[in-house]
Amino acid sequence: MSKRKAGAYNATAMITATKIWPLFSWVECGGCSSEFRRQAGWLVKTDDHHLSGPIARCGECCPTAASAIDCMRVTVAAADFARRFELTKGGLKRVA
Ligand SMILES: [Zn+2]
Repeated sequence: MSKRKAGAYNATAMITATKIWPLFSWVECGGCSSEFRRQAGWLVKTDDHHLSGPIARCGECCPTAASAIDCMRVTVAAADFARRFELTKGGLKRVA
């Protein structure tokens, strides 16, 4: 039940951000790579699991749900790009 069109993953991938507050376990932020707990953060998911699995973001990188979703759009767009192009000695080559 994906709403995305072929070749436009970054624009139409469904992205959701759920607020998390890890109490006991440390969670690694996908943005700054620092571990956080006992502070607000986000668990960001996309419906396109081929492009990116769930990523946690700390509240310092992404203070709002909208900014967490924006960060994920960049991640998904980069993954989409990496899947469709290959870096060769002659430059970027389209593979899909
Ligand atoms: Zn962070």
